[in-house]
Amino acid sequence: MPDGGSEKPMLVDGSWIPAESGKTFAVHNPSTGEEIARVAKADTPDVDRAVRAAHRAFEEGPWSHLRPPERARYLFTVARLIRERLEEIAALETRNVGKPIRDSRDEVGAAADCFEYYAGAVPRIYGETIPVASPGLDFTLREPIGVVALIVPWNFPFIMGAWKVAPALAAGNTVILKPASYTPLTALLLGEICQAAGIPPGVVNVITGPGFTAGASLAGHPLVGKIAFTGETETGKQIMHLAADSIKKVSLELGGKSPNIIFDDADLDEAVNTSALAVFGNAGQDCCARSRAFVQQGVHDAFLAKFVARTKTLKVGDPMDSETEVGPLISPGQRERVVEYIRVGQSEGAKLACGGEVPTDPARARGSYLFPAVLTQVQNRMRVAQEEIFGPVLCVIPFRDEDEAVRLANDTIYGLSGSLWTRDIGRAIRVARRVRTGVLSINCNRSVHLEAPFGGYKLSGTGRELGMHALSLYTEVKNVFVSTA
Ligand code: NDP
Repeated sequence: MPDGGSEKPMLVDGSWIPAESGKTFAVHNPSTGEEIARVAKADTPDVDRAVRAAHRAFEEGPWSHLRPPERARYLFTVARLIRERLEEIAALETRNVGKPIRDSRDEVGAAADCFEYYAGAVPRIYGETIPVASPGLDFTLREPIGVVALIVPWNFPFIMGAWKVAPALAAGNTVILKPASYTPLTALLLGEICQAAGIPPGVVNVITGPGFTAGASLAGHPLVGKIAFTGETETGKQIMHLAADSIKKVSLELGGKSPNIIFDDADLDEAVNTSALAVFGNAGQDCCARSRAFVQQGVHDAFLAKFVARTKTLKVGDPMDSETEVGPLISPGQRERVVEYIRVGQSEGAKLACGGEVPTDPARARGSYLFPAVLTQVQNRMRVAQEEIFGPVLCVIPFRDEDEAVRLANDTIYGLSGSLWTRDIGRAIRVARRVRTGVLSINCNRSVHLEAPFGGYKLSGTGRELGMHALSLYTEVKNVFVSTA
């Protein structure tokens, strides 16, 4: 990327260019409110240019025709360059997103792992031979789709980009990455790294611009064969509509309202300690946030007391401080939305056990900080228990028995992830089978494993990212029959 100071151009067809209109927009640091950069504001003509470049790169090669070990080598190089620049990328991610620096470091390291994983997967993208009735040989080929649009949100910008770019490239596609307008900076760095790795022009393009114009043009462009989207459920619905005219392949990773079920035989201390960051980590702006704690009646009061005590110990502050556990929310508007949800919850009958205040000390007054909040006496039908708040708010809801826990956990439009805590292995397996989520953790809160599928049931999405499953999102299957008659 040319060093244009705080003005950042886009990567299209191997060149760093401004928007055709010359327009830019501001990017802020949520921990201080300061403007930290201006980026190109793409619109329909810029999107068209990027899509045509990606289409030409796909049709003319060499990317889509490279021998597997050659394509893999580029991806290994991307991984190496990410590791070499890990501190720089992590610091930029923290400045732009407000997430604690230790989380940014973990995520950037995980992005490098992701490129390595899919580099290793390149030679494993193969078909099958099928014993058909007709005389001959039948086999399948797995081929790239073509131009793939990758649209990502603001809560995990770099790692979400990696989750999509790496498997899409591994399969031989060309891509256009569109980051969220709040957080475009590390996506541009990823474009720069792909270029430095020698990936040919037009194979990786990064455009920055508003979702409702640039994003929608991309999602509707007739030369785009596939859209991989992560973001809000309502936006996901719009993407599906935009994709319909040209019957694009679509995979969606959408919102969640994940249950955390604590049975009375659980290791309560362990459940409390890990569950605090499972809901308040990334300031609660996590699609997998365990935002509904269902606690069996016998341990409800003990869990609540311990959880509130743990919440009060969380270090909320400067995300560049490596001790910080909870940084600011992405914007003042997002914080207002969360504060309003807490108010709505109280008006519906929930009680605020702790948190929910805006820090007023000088160190935090300019950022979008909020102390993590615990709501008790919540009923699952309340708005705070049904809608994705996307902020640091836990709803605590008691239950009587296994059946009630399952019924409440499933009483939501979402189905992304969830956890359950028990020492009874039979119960763990019974309940895990009945909870309608794409991801479920037993006696921990971990949702993501690079090697395993990740995605949602119901309105949490369609398709599975990560692992070898992700490769099916980015490939077509061709059946070939050779007659021997
Ligand atoms: P949005 O849906 O608002 O935006 C996501 C991306 O889509 C952004 O790049 C945005 O651009 C773009 N976009 C917005 N409108 C359109 C449109 N009409 N056509 C095409 N693109 C569009 O989500 P947020 O960024 O607010 O992210 C938060 C949401 O993401 C939460 O609901 C969260 O649960 C979900 N999420 C889901 C995950 C999962 O794996 N299931 C993981 C992480 C987050 P712009 O920023 O310019 O508006």
